[in-house]
Amino acid sequence: MITIKDLVKSFRTEEVETLALNKVNLKVEAGEFVAIMGPSGCGKSTLLNIIGMLDNPTEGSYNFASNEVAGLRENQRTQLRKGNLGFVFQSFNLIDELTVFENVELPLIYLKMEKAERREKVMQVLERMKIAHREKHFPHQLSGGQQQRVAIARAVVTKPKLILADEPTGNLDSKNGLQVMNLLTELNQEGTTIVMVTHSEHDSHFAHRVVNLFDGQIVTESQNRAMGAEV
Ligand code: ADP
Ligand code: ADP
Repeated sequence: MITIKDLVKSFRTEEVETLALNKVNLKVEAGEFVAIMGPSGCGKSTLLNIIGMLDNPTEGSYNFASNEVAGLRENQRTQLRKGNLGFVFQSFNLIDELTVFENVELPLIYLKMEKAERREKVMQVLERMKIAHREKHFPHQLSGGQQQRVAIARAVVTKPKLILADEPTGNLDSKNGLQVMNLLTELNQEGTTIVMVTHSEHDSHFAHRVVNLFDGQIVTESQNRAMGAEV
């Protein structure tokens, strides 16, 4: 699904140039669950942003599902993201002014889906995430665990090929964190590819494979389990 070759990303601010990614090579198979780990500042978010087509690399190539992404214009990247990618963040990133239902409905509005079909799809995924009873609530009325379940519902309502998760349990206690990891694992077992950035050794065990970044380079990779094997 993903082939990244000699990826370089540098940031220039005033006179300082930061090499955030320095010749990264990475392949992710369809159906894989990959964890990216490494110390703060090693380039994890930069890599996830490029995989998520939010940012362009400085050099190198990025192929996603047979599309060359590096060098695409912003509107072309947006087009490719639609329906293909779902994002889950540490801070949930829900829209405070919208209800649970409306937050999850938004990606379907962008896909120009009809209202009745949207209602059906949103309620289906809210039930799946065990949060349907909160459809009329606003994010601030929910616990962190509930907010992250809404965020996962929003990420998967379009049935994306790939979910990108940035520290998805970073703001949760262990009980809610485990629930989120179990949900991601279930989605992966149903065929969704997952790339997750995490600091948590515990969470990394849910992945098939762990990629360790250091100073913008992949320094080690380890296989936890084969694809298809139980967690
Ligand atoms: P991590 O997610 O592993 O903490 P990041 O990918 O956020 O690391 O950052 C990698 C390096 O790139 C750091 O040195 C960071 O300061 C730098 N960096 C990231 N984003 C920017 C930016 N927009 N402008 C300038 N430097 C950046
Ligand atoms: P559930 O059993 O539905 O997963 P939780 O255990 O997450 O619910 O939360 C229990 C109750 O406490 C819920 O009604 C939730 O709205 C409320 N709650 C928990 N934390 C917060 C919070 N930070 N702000 C507002 N309400 C909260």
